[in-house]
Amino acid sequence: MRQQQFEFADDMDFKPGDHNYKRGWREWAKPQYDELPEAVRQLHMDIIGEKYGVLKQGGDLDIPMSYGLREVFESFDDETLAHSAHVIYFLGHWASNGKYSCSWWFTNMANQVLSKRLGVDNSIKQRGLFLRVHDGLIRLTYSNRDTWQWEEICTATRDHLARCQQVVDETGDYDDAVRVLKKEFGPVRPDFVVPQPWDVQINKALIGSGMKGVEIVSVNFDPHPFVITNKHVERSNGMFLDPTTAPCGHRGCTLLPDQHTHERALVIEGFVDGIGQRERLEKLVPLLEELKIDGLVFARDLDDEEESCEA
Ligand SMILES: [Zn+2]
Repeated sequence: MRQQQFEFADDMDFKPGDHNYKRGWREWAKPQYDELPEAVRQLHMDIIGEKYGVLKQGGDLDIPMSYGLREVFESFDDETLAHSAHVIYFLGHWASNGKYSCSWWFTNMANQVLSKRLGVDNSIKQRGLFLRVHDGLIRLTYSNRDTWQWEEICTATRDHLARCQQVVDETGDYDDAVRVLKKEFGPVRPDFVVPQPWDVQINKALIGSGMKGVEIVSVNFDPHPFVITNKHVERSNGMFLDPTTAPCGHRGCTLLPDQHTHERALVIEGFVDGIGQRERLEKLVPLLEELKIDGLVFARDLDDEEESCEA
């Protein structure tokens, strides 16, 4: 039996850290869909009702579009089409029943129209830093021979693309560009991740204090974090890395994995030394001890550097 108190009944269907897609559908996808223009919802219903037949992707993963259908998609402006493609994708993806399961047909065709308008070539396999159109959104993507990563930034409009391209050109770096653009555009949709037990308990204890516990970070590594090398990769069987199969990769280190220790710190946002805030944190100490949290880290702002102190 799980001890955790959940705010939402269907969080029980998921593990902490999982995405509660049922809540996402109920609280975001469906209400957003109901707000879309009538003409968009009609087109979506016609498409999933197979008015244009059972649609299939071609070899390039695009659904071939008849002229008449393309013309209807073209009648919507960038923002309407991009936002609708995003919402309709998740209306289908998060739905618990089959009624909306072909919604991605709409999004696939909207992406084709948008990527053509924006002049973004979605088909070619590029290397380096580039922008793509996906689920009605601009994705900043970085790929090389070994890695591939992406971040959803904003709706796929021509104005947004120009701004994204400007930031990419100015920074020339994936992480820097993501940081600048995320701060400017904010999240593309709300987060429905089921909170960890510490998250629920800490934030319940901090209600009304203006402060929030946002994450647990590892700090004060002694003497340093255990370093995994390719020997560990070669010698581990199965899908998990076994750190006991080879020595730590830190130069000159002969310590065993469990001789590398660290402390757990809770990151607190919203501490401005306001009235009663110190007292609220002091009252938190027994709970921190119970949760085996060693100290606090105060974040001034989402992006600002952090300042730490002992609990
Ligand atoms: Zn070591």
